[in-house]
Amino acid sequence: MATEYISLKNLRFLMHDVHDVAYFTKNFDHYKQHDPEMFDIMLDTAKQIGDKELHPFYQTMDRKHVPDIFDGVTKVHPQIPNIVKAMAESGWTRAIVPEEYGGMQLPSMVRVAGEFIFQAANNGAMFYSELTTGAAKLIQSFGSEELKAEYLEKMYDGEWLGTMALTEPDAGSSLSDLTTTATPQDDGSFKITGQKIFISAGDNDFSENVIHLLLARIDGAPSGTKGISLFVVPKYRKDAKGELVDNDVIPAGVYHKMGQKAAPAMHLIFGEKENCHGYLVGEPNKGLKYMFQLMNSARIAVGVMGASISSAAYYASLQYAKERKQGRKIDAKNVHEPQIAIIEHADVKRMLMYQKAIMEGSMSLVFEASRSFELSKVGDGEEREHHQLLLDLLTPVVKTYPSEEGIKSVSTGIQCFGGYGYTEDFPLEQMLRDIRITSIYEGTTGIQSMDLLGRKVVMKGGKAAMAYFQEVNKTVEEAFKYEALKPYAKLLKKEMEQLQQVTMHLTGKAMQGEIELFLADANLYMELFGLIAIAWQWLKQGVEAQKQIDQGNAAGDDLNFLQSKIHTMKFFFHYEVPRTKGLAQRLQDDEVLTVGFENMLV
Ligand SMILES: Cc1cc2nc3c(=O)[nH]c(=O)nc-3n(C[C@H](O)[C@H](O)[C@H](O)COP(=O)(O)OP(=O)(O)OC[C@H]3O[C@@H](n4cnc5c(N)ncnc54)[C@H](O)[C@@H]3O)c2cc1C
Repeated sequence: MATEYISLKNLRFLMHDVHDVAYFTKNFDHYKQHDPEMFDIMLDTAKQIGDKELHPFYQTMDRKHVPDIFDGVTKVHPQIPNIVKAMAESGWTRAIVPEEYGGMQLPSMVRVAGEFIFQAANNGAMFYSELTTGAAKLIQSFGSEELKAEYLEKMYDGEWLGTMALTEPDAGSSLSDLTTTATPQDDGSFKITGQKIFISAGDNDFSENVIHLLLARIDGAPSGTKGISLFVVPKYRKDAKGELVDNDVIPAGVYHKMGQKAAPAMHLIFGEKENCHGYLVGEPNKGLKYMFQLMNSARIAVGVMGASISSAAYYASLQYAKERKQGRKIDAKNVHEPQIAIIEHADVKRMLMYQKAIMEGSMSLVFEASRSFELSKVGDGEEREHHQLLLDLLTPVVKTYPSEEGIKSVSTGIQCFGGYGYTEDFPLEQMLRDIRITSIYEGTTGIQSMDLLGRKVVMKGGKAAMAYFQEVNKTVEEAFKYEALKPYAKLLKKEMEQLQQVTMHLTGKAMQGEIELFLADANLYMELFGLIAIAWQWLKQGVEAQKQIDQGNAAGDDLNFLQSKIHTMKFFFHYEVPRTKGLAQRLQDDEVLTVGFENMLV
């Protein structure tokens, strides 16, 4: 198994140089106790945890102790408790939690950098602590003081684990159709009745408790999204004496998944014996709004996951391509010459460049969104609003591009391995199975694409789109200052003009009331938007790399690293960006063959 799964040098370049994490420590009192050198130490610690607790178990968790229910108990891999403990003890679980809740109050970019390491090391094993942090954050943001006192510390300490319980058999993409009910009780609690499916890390055999953040409908609530409330539903609730007693949450089954087998996706039944109590979070009927806080963070986390698995696949492919000898140079005549490493073949180099371009471009986009996430909280006035708009617009793209393109990138990695890539001798086949889910959960690509085009691009009279165009233009202007980057600055400028033209064409349909036609090809619009967003991130990385090269202080490996950034930027512009032409043509073609025509699918 390849030993490398992530490059700390690349993470540091992105976090410090391209996305300027020091901006936060310099400009906001909120982070005054931190300095950027400390962030590097944290990343070193994260890598040590990755190397020791996560990565060595990546393949075994896929094959041994795969979670399942035995005699009513959901057994998980014995290493999982150690991972949860390591995350809590090292402080990563509380990395961005405010100090008043015992957190480290770090800029979220640092947490994202840590996540890249953990996810690349062993993505499936991270569900337990990640979902717990997300669930606790919901209680922290919207829960009563009583709920906070009862749950937060134990959850952030990793003693009680958390889940997000939204999906039901007949309510997946369409959450407005969920039917789980909540009946008010005299003691202020609610009796919960219903079923949830696919609940990740929905149960285990080691934590003292499992806390489900669950969506349900209070009796008599309006139908649709307006009648959904959020509840804390523990596996064990406290009785009058403060003892933990069974709360009638039954683990009914574990789905046998294609990948990410370290964490079970569970079917849970709530209140079969009419004895399941839930506790309302915040106000009634505002549950979906609250849950969106977790869902938006989770969408960015899926982007992190896509880029991280792509990273692990890239470094494994790179190592293999350097070691595997096969064939000779195309112009070599002598069959007695030794075979060469496959990395010397242009087509293999193209595949590796493709993987690198997708992965490092995706990572940069995630950092970009994470920067906006932070500024939308701590920035002042206009800066805050600007970054909230950017974050709203970028979230579906950050969820989608690293997932969809990551899947292709890992599949390309398998191609680099030839026949061995298709076997269990190497981790690529597992990585492909693992990454495949990223375009499905947390809102499928179809749903994200409709969100991007149907809501985000047009919201507030196109204000978010304007904020985005402004940001991209800033990078284009910067790039024009460097002779070597001018051709790429020009290209991106043209691409942005084309994107605006396509957007206007499509929104024109919306204005004519042709909503179905407007959104029919939203998925392709997402592809176009994503390509340009990554081209922007590559130009941004190119500007920083060129600046450092021109300063003349880099030599050896450092210089090579910067040159490889410029080279990969060029690769992205020359090999990937041209795909926008076909997409733009399709999106402006009025022959739509997918609205109606159901009888054509025979
Ligand atoms: C491994 C795994 C882990 C999961 N973890 C969790 C979890 O922890 N908590 C949780 O609550 N859920 C979880 N889920 C559920 C997941 O979020 C849903 O599976 C996902 O949102 C899709 O819902 P669905 O499966 O019902 O598909 P459907 O909604 O039936 O979608 C099927 C297809 O139809 C398309 N489609 C649906 N509606 C529309 C529309 N209006 N317009 C256009 N196309 C549409 C979709 O894009 C998709 O391609 C998990 C799922 C899996 C597989």
